[in-house]
Amino acid sequence: MPQTPLETLNSLFGYESFRGQQQQIIEQVIDGQDVLVLMPTGGGKSLCYQIPALVMDGVGIVVSPLIALMQDQVSALHQLGVRAAFLNSTLSFDEARRVEQDLLNGELDLLYIAPERLTGERTQALFARLKIALFAIDEAHCVSQWGHDFRADYLQLSLLHQQFPDVPRIALTATADERTRQEIIKRLALEQAQVFISGFDRPNIRYRIIQKQNARQQLLGFIRAEHPGDAGIVYCLSRKKVEETAKWLNDKGVNALPYHAGMSHELRQSHQHRFLMEEGLVIVATIAFGMGIDKPNVRFVAHLDLPKSIEAYYQETGRAGRDGLPANAWMAYGLQDVITLRQMLAGSNADELHKRVEYHKLDAMLALCESIGCRRQTLLAYFGDELQQGCGNCDTCLEPVETWDGTVAAQQALSCIYRTGQRFGATYLISVLLGKADDRMRSFGHDKQSTFGIGQSLGEKQWRSVFRQLVAKGLVEIDFEGYGAFKLTETCRPVLRGEQTLMLRKDSLPEKTKRSKAES
Ligand code: ADP
Ligand code: ZN
Repeated sequence: MPQTPLETLNSLFGYESFRGQQQQIIEQVIDGQDVLVLMPTGGGKSLCYQIPALVMDGVGIVVSPLIALMQDQVSALHQLGVRAAFLNSTLSFDEARRVEQDLLNGELDLLYIAPERLTGERTQALFARLKIALFAIDEAHCVSQWGHDFRADYLQLSLLHQQFPDVPRIALTATADERTRQEIIKRLALEQAQVFISGFDRPNIRYRIIQKQNARQQLLGFIRAEHPGDAGIVYCLSRKKVEETAKWLNDKGVNALPYHAGMSHELRQSHQHRFLMEEGLVIVATIAFGMGIDKPNVRFVAHLDLPKSIEAYYQETGRAGRDGLPANAWMAYGLQDVITLRQMLAGSNADELHKRVEYHKLDAMLALCESIGCRRQTLLAYFGDELQQGCGNCDTCLEPVETWDGTVAAQQALSCIYRTGQRFGATYLISVLLGKADDRMRSFGHDKQSTFGIGQSLGEKQWRSVFRQLVAKGLVEIDFEGYGAFKLTETCRPVLRGEQTLMLRKDSLPEKTKRSKAES
């Protein structure tokens, strides 16, 4: 007996009401329209195609790249009494035949299928004989070469539309940056699809990004002041730093455990288990930690190193406050982070296109760090999710950033880069600006050069801040081949010519510094 979407939600899935835009999405699909759904992991994407498949005539075909997930979903559906099956390489020939027979008999409401299987002749012949309610394309970002999960088989999926123009398609992904979205639309021929972007906001997480001075000490100050005895995750880039930081925190009385891929499997398992089971443990980890970790009461996530993209930052910070109670996402970052990440990228084996993609992602991350507006707005805007007003729950909302006119300083810094031949990094350039000559500088003759000593109205820290912001704003780029030397870009011209004023962030001392000094 046919049911409405809401009845199906209530009686079959046991949920009271739809979440976010689920209902509109479901209605569109039932109405025969194509849709693209961008929702973070855990947002409730599955129901968006499961319910239409159950309500509509015929079988819903779900393309999914992950065999393990396919099996999980199908067994979960069986538990609810839903007629579902999958077709992938794990099935024997006979098993696959049985599924095909069930399909032909109209005995299935949902069929999960691996993308490589979809375009084969056998499948095509089978589909031609079925009443198909909808096509769901899960993990749709796999069609994008811009991302990391590219799968060539996904490129064939636009064929579905050509062969079954009347069957509605629903593409779903948790990756929502603009580039990926455009690529999904183009490659899957979803130009007519209505796009739903929602649910990326995690309102209980307070975002805070501070300037690195002495990061470990800053972290300790933060934990002591705001999270004594709380469970938290501290992310570091390298295994060595993970080990050192965990040890150091323990010495300072914080109960911390290391976690990285260089540790034995048993030890990692044991630390992960303790983190999940015990109260108030801090885990210091590389990004190897976190996949599939579902601990609801992680009260803070701290970054001692810059993540390489906004997606990574969002995912890692998203492990805080799953229980909905207030949680902190705290990060200390500095110019060296950017240089390190760029050098790592430059030295990687990735092809040129991929490197360029990664540089762009890093730039977006940097822009978030240097943002003078609401962090949450910047973060959500990256995912295409809009926030009308400042959130009131991030550092820049709570304590508006002070700015200063950095035009002259920027001109001095830019000239200094130029006059010294675009061959040096921040430390050397700052010495020139401050007029601190050593033998090396004298041997280059830079103590005689016009920008020598012109920057004495600022201190070293302020200069670092200026250079960092010049990089973040794209006026200066870091030369990866040349040991991280600074080079000018086209965008710096208007500033050099005095045609553009440059407002810079005034880096205040990180909060709590005084208190943590007194305590440690
Ligand atoms: P995604 O595929 O987006 O990662 P899921 O579809 O697996 O997310 O859903 C995440 C969780 O949210 C599941 O446990 C699901 O049952 C639950 N959920 C989804 N929609 C609702 C709803 N309307 N009400 C209550 N729980 C929901
Ligand atoms: Zn805000």
